[in-house]
Amino acid sequence: MNSVPEPAKLKKTNLLDFDRKGLAAFFVDLGEKPFRATQLLKWIYQEGLTDFDLMTNLSKPLRNFLTENCCLETPEIVVEQHASDGVYKWALQTHCGNRVETVFIPEEGRGTLCVSSQIGCALACTFCSTAQQGFNRNLSTSEIIGQVYVAQNRLGKEARVTNVVMMGMGEPLLNFDNVVAAMNLMMDDFAYGLSKRRVTVSTSGVVPAMYRLTEVCDVSLAVSLHAVTDELRDELVPINKKYPLKELMEACRANAKLAPRRTVTFEYVMLDGVNDSLEDAHGLVDLLSTVPAKINLIPFNPFPLSSYRCSSNNRIHQFKTLLNDAGIVTTVRKTRGEDIDAACGQLVGQVKDKSRRHLKLKLAGAESVV
Ligand code: SAH
Repeated sequence: MNSVPEPAKLKKTNLLDFDRKGLAAFFVDLGEKPFRATQLLKWIYQEGLTDFDLMTNLSKPLRNFLTENCCLETPEIVVEQHASDGVYKWALQTHCGNRVETVFIPEEGRGTLCVSSQIGCALACTFCSTAQQGFNRNLSTSEIIGQVYVAQNRLGKEARVTNVVMMGMGEPLLNFDNVVAAMNLMMDDFAYGLSKRRVTVSTSGVVPAMYRLTEVCDVSLAVSLHAVTDELRDELVPINKKYPLKELMEACRANAKLAPRRTVTFEYVMLDGVNDSLEDAHGLVDLLSTVPAKINLIPFNPFPLSSYRCSSNNRIHQFKTLLNDAGIVTTVRKTRGEDIDAACGQLVGQVKDKSRRHLKLKLAGAESVV
């Protein structure tokens, strides 16, 4: 008797990989009506159901089809750390054996989730510890929205995720489609329903992607500026060599034009003796004179092998006062979660580096890491 080969086991479709538009197309392909997408989103994100069979407004055959062919898969929390100031940091295991980190920052009346977009980072900003990890791959949409999903599940009634900042590991605009789909879900009234003011994407300045973002996805924009001359920015944020300040500012202006009274937030890490002179502050005022801007000064958070130091409190205060006096709303980012390495630039996860940067840095010796 001839043996019949077993059919290859088909991989199930993860429905967390689709935003509403993607889900509607998925259902239309199945010969279903597009409104199935909104029904499903509500079950998943608002009712928290994972069993398709309990989704009673879908027909029985459709529920059976979904059970057999689809899944709702998120990365899994493998380590939880809880800082003395209430900040949570979770390490999430992805199916490929890497880990990314997600941080929840509770504040009076709100809760901000800091979400990762890539495993590691392909950019090499000299003051950021994620950069030292090298790069493995982009996260999928399900792995990005999954961070909100598992965080909210874990927090339960203790707290709500009211704001999301794409400021975890990675450069979000180099993972454009998946990040946009995930942010669409964050803002979708049938999913998390956050307002566009409460979803922020932070970029090191990937200029072409900033224009695309302005066209397709209306979220708040933060730009990691960190220097006011191309010479210094080339060194601190090397992507500046490709997209220098003049082009970056142009893209920021285009984004600010989206709506009246809209502002772009500029992040500026305070590095002692590097970018924190009062001349730098004056340079910042000049540079931002043609962009509706807010400034967020970030005290530098040290990490192993970094040789930068944070500016003194005095200097940060002087810098802030000068900017505020020049009419630019300027705040100093409060460092949170320090005792569990959950602060800006300290997220490292576990990255199987494919860029070999990790190795190159090791060979070059610790001194040249920054
Ligand atoms: N790649 C994106 C998202 C990272 S957001 C971006 O560059 O914007 C994280 C923010 O923290 C960025 O502004 C980043 O420049 C800043 N940052 C990185 N390392 C830091 C450190 N060691 N101390 C303080 N801020 C840091």
